Amino acid sequence: MLLPGSTIGMLGGGQLGRMFTVAARTLGYKVIVLEPDPLSPAGQLADQHLRAAYDDEQALRQFGEQCAVVTTEFENIPAQTLEFLTQFCPVRPSATAVQVAQDRMVEKEFVRSCGLSPVPFAPIRQLADIPSACSQINFPAILKTARFGYDGKGQITVNHPSEVEAAFLQLKTVECVLEQRVDLAKEISVVLARSVHGEMDCFPVAENLHRNGILHQTIVPARINEALAEQAKQAAQRIAAKLEFVGVMAVEFFVTRQGELLINEMAPRTHNSGHYSLDACITSQFEQQVRMVCELPFGDTRLHTPVVMMNLLGDLWGSSQPIWDELLHSPNSKLHLYGKHEARAGRKMGHFCTLHPDLNAAIAEADRIFSTLPQV
Ligand code: ADP
Ligand code: MG
Repeated sequence: MLLPGSTIGMLGGGQLGRMFTVAARTLGYKVIVLEPDPLSPAGQLADQHLRAAYDDEQALRQFGEQCAVVTTEFENIPAQTLEFLTQFCPVRPSATAVQVAQDRMVEKEFVRSCGLSPVPFAPIRQLADIPSACSQINFPAILKTARFGYDGKGQITVNHPSEVEAAFLQLKTVECVLEQRVDLAKEISVVLARSVHGEMDCFPVAENLHRNGILHQTIVPARINEALAEQAKQAAQRIAAKLEFVGVMAVEFFVTRQGELLINEMAPRTHNSGHYSLDACITSQFEQQVRMVCELPFGDTRLHTPVVMMNLLGDLWGSSQPIWDELLHSPNSKLHLYGKHEARAGRKMGHFCTLHPDLNAAIAEADRIFSTLPQV
């Protein structure tokens, strides 16, 4: 067990790293963040911010020598970086576990190897793959880059096979997957923790609403039946076990109109759809990550109050700031801002949670507050 006072290394300096840093420092750990951005959300709050690239060997050496354990908040940390750091201290999760989630193609094959169903897809690595891919997938479909996509970026909807070539060229002919567009009844996600000994614990299932490919709202508990919630938790645990994952990870699911559960994607880190746990669970996903990487026992993930989380994107800032009055006047709402210096359209600047014993009341209040935020 790594006790409070030990130093944890965090690869990545975004909001997930920031909320991890708060949780770790609250428990009395020291945190060193390695992140190139000098103004990063996590770097601002860490004991030490090493401003360096993820492949800067000298910086990694300096980082590794000071840390008792290293973890991550960003799925695109190069596998070589994680591998390199293992000569200094444990790295949790491992390079192998993280790598699977870095490539949609690898990820989908992995999901299949777990006996689970990914969204129907076909690989397109080069122009010549297009006819065969189109014959396997029903349209409308979505062409997605295999790597480096997030918040709906690197995706183009294609309504007809004749549109695929132009979309592939627009995505610069990098490796892609052609994915069937699913008729969604709901999107849900499971955030779970897995210990070095292989024990697992899931947070309550979250129901997610996206706008323009970006998470907009998370509702917990998800409005689904108990059997489906259990099925999602079992699937997520099967994936985590097969990955031999250590830490906190997330699995995103689609529920089709036919009631089928498909795996959309996974994240080898804490997840936006788990932010509600900061305010509505006994233990947050970030504290649980601290606990897992330091080999502490699990914290209780029970939901103490129904909750709605709303993301705050840069669009709400306009030329100044959102109008905070209603949000700040709501005694059962909690504002979280990430300390980002520049608001851009689509950029995640913060979130808020509204808690209420009656879930419908929480939804109505969160929606009402959200509608008062934009400057007019
Ligand atoms: P990202 O890595 O950007 O989160 P996702 O594949 O999760 O990429 O896509 C973002 C969102 O776009 C999903 O949560 C969903 O709302 C929508 N979406 C993506 N793929 C599909 C699909 N095949 N069918 C229906 N909706 C989809
Ligand atoms: Mg996603």
